[in-house]
Amino acid sequence: RANKTGKGGYEFYNADQWRKERRDADISSHLSIALQSGEIQVWYQPQVNYETGELVGAEALCRWKHATFGWLSPAEFIPALEESGLIYDLDCYVWEQVCRDLQRWNEQGRRLAVSVNVARSDVRDDKNLLEHFTSLVQRYGVDPSQLHIEITETVYMSDPELLIRTVSRLREHGFLVEMDDFGSGYSSLNMLKEMPVDRIKLDLRFLTETGDQVKGGIIVNHVVKMVRALGMDILAEGVETVDQAANLLECGCLEMQGFYFYKPMNVREFERIA
Ligand code: C2E
Ligand code: MG
Ligand code: MG
Ligand code: MG
Repeated sequence: RANKTGKGGYEFYNADQWRKERRDADISSHLSIALQSGEIQVWYQPQVNYETGELVGAEALCRWKHATFGWLSPAEFIPALEESGLIYDLDCYVWEQVCRDLQRWNEQGRRLAVSVNVARSDVRDDKNLLEHFTSLVQRYGVDPSQLHIEITETVYMSDPELLIRTVSRLREHGFLVEMDDFGSGYSSLNMLKEMPVDRIKLDLRFLTETGDQVKGGIIVNHVVKMVRALGMDILAEGVETVDQAANLLECGCLEMQGFYFYKPMNVREFERIA
């Protein structure tokens, strides 16, 4: 593929683009080996109740120590895996590892809840998420309420009917469902009315990283109040400062996750604080 340049010549399509595509292809072709060899790990970011100081749970986030590229962040490989359709394999691996960890913690008398991420393409009729999660929790003796299933708000937009059905059935079976990344810009307020979720995850970064900070704060306060008035729980993520935490507490958002409290950590480190 060549692009015509303004100077009348041809410029072969950009080397950066080529490298990115090669890398995406490498990432996808290497996934199954990586899953078997333990290059992919599940890390945990603690979630706290800021009022009581208690640890209330954690979010499972995958980390990949790639043989040639070193540590990769999900932002680098999740889009590649979504594109190649392999994200479901990764997610099944993560969910199972989480259930194994929960089983071990249950046996030790530490009853924790873990939020797991679900990618857009995982929510499809042919995937049967409900059956998958139900058999996982049965296999590991985990209570469904210990798994908090995070679905990103953009997924809610693409096929609302399928999603309402999936979410409702997961909840009927005792799983807790959360809307991730609320406030990222795709949300419709109407969706809050239609989607039967238990908890909203409000990402402060979307509202406070750019633009008017004061106005961002006002929106955060009102979203918290609105979500609670609608009968849902709310957890704020991306909490980085004590001021943010204090403000959230004041407007009634008690549960938080963010670098101010803890960064994501490997399972050994997590077990030291849990
Ligand atoms: P997410 O689900 O919204 O996860 C929260 C992200 O915010 C994590 O990034 C976390 O490290 C980061 N974060 C938490 N607190 C703070 C903070 O105070 N400040 C800042 N700047 N960042 C904070 P991470 O681990 O890089 O993951 C990025 C995204 O990749 C996740 O966003 C999620 O959508 C996706 N992801 C991660 N692991 C998985 C997985 O196992 N499966 C799927 N399908 N997606 C995953
Ligand atoms: Mg998440
Ligand atoms: Mg997510
Ligand atoms: Mg999020």
